[in-house]
Amino acid sequence: MDKRRLGRTNLKVSIVGFGGTWIAELNPDVAENVVKHAFELGINYFDSARWDGDSEEKIGAALQDVRDQCIIASKTGSRTKHESLNDLKVSLKNLRTDHLDIIQLHGIDDEKTLRKAMDQDGALQTCKEALKEGLADFIGITGHKPQILAKAIATGSFDTVLVPINLVTRQALEELLPIAKIHDVGVVAMKPFSAKTSNIVTCLYQPSLSLISNEPELKRLLGETTEEQVNTALRYVLSQDIAVTIPGLRSIKEVETAAKAGQKYTEPTMSEKERFSFDLQDYCRDCGLCMPCPESIDIPAILRFYTFYETFGFKEWSRKLYRGLEVKADKCSGCGDCEIKCPYKLSIKEKLKKVQYYLHN
Ligand code: SF4
Ligand code: SF4
Repeated sequence: MDKRRLGRTNLKVSIVGFGGTWIAELNPDVAENVVKHAFELGINYFDSARWDGDSEEKIGAALQDVRDQCIIASKTGSRTKHESLNDLKVSLKNLRTDHLDIIQLHGIDDEKTLRKAMDQDGALQTCKEALKEGLADFIGITGHKPQILAKAIATGSFDTVLVPINLVTRQALEELLPIAKIHDVGVVAMKPFSAKTSNIVTCLYQPSLSLISNEPELKRLLGETTEEQVNTALRYVLSQDIAVTIPGLRSIKEVETAAKAGQKYTEPTMSEKERFSFDLQDYCRDCGLCMPCPESIDIPAILRFYTFYETFGFKEWSRKLYRGLEVKADKCSGCGDCEIKCPYKLSIKEKLKKVQYYLHN
């Protein structure tokens, strides 16, 4: 499998990596085989987290004999120096290693959390000390809000950034990747198969808002078979200016399908570029700054479904998703609070009226 340079870390990472979240669901023997098989197929980037159940223990057990040939990234979800230091010690023990290649701040999705993690008693200090003591080589940051991550990496404190990117989740291409390029920060793309963004959990083959599904409209874009769909979804992500994408993998079959897509990756053809091209303008970036709505309307979710409908042409799928929401757009009182807060100056009220007209049937 091809390798790419992970920004200024200069690490050479396989273009498809291993997202370790879901192996926490597996029994230890199965998980170990899944991780080992990924390594055998050329995957050398393994991502885990203290928050991800016993994923670290399983990765540590599977890779202990080939540790020096792997790049292991883990995360601390703690925000203070003291707690994150404890996390780091546990991560090292779980992963059976004396150092992490990358220690990441996990799930930094708003400015307050970013400030807390970066202040003098924050988790970033632990990461810096870990570098000095040889317990980690590089510092990364992860989250679902590209504009927050862009502010973080502009400080120069982070060597890598982990963010969702996929066919229908493109905010990072616009708001984060140009900044990452300027600072030579290595970009790792998570959730290559998931149509959901923040506060949402999906993975390969899981039906809930996964792009890998039997929805006819998704099949038209991605392909008929699971293998075709995975291949198309990964090809789109890999055609962006990123180093590695890390689908969450939890079976030998999933590992083989994802690794195969990485092994045979070539630059997208002109016809693929046209197929992947959508005119995304005036759309909701899921920044969440318009929330909360006094009528409990989930504005980002509704506008996301509207983008699926209007821009991606997923007419039936978006209607189905919209029908699943408890509070619909017709609850909008027209107070206008959201529009004042939207940094993209979207006409939210107008869009909600369109949503109710087009999606509610
Ligand atoms: S205008 Fe409608 S959607 Fe916006 S905050 Fe008011 S009630 Fe909520
Ligand atoms: S409507 Fe505007 S403020 Fe609300 S999530 Fe979308 S882009 Fe952000």
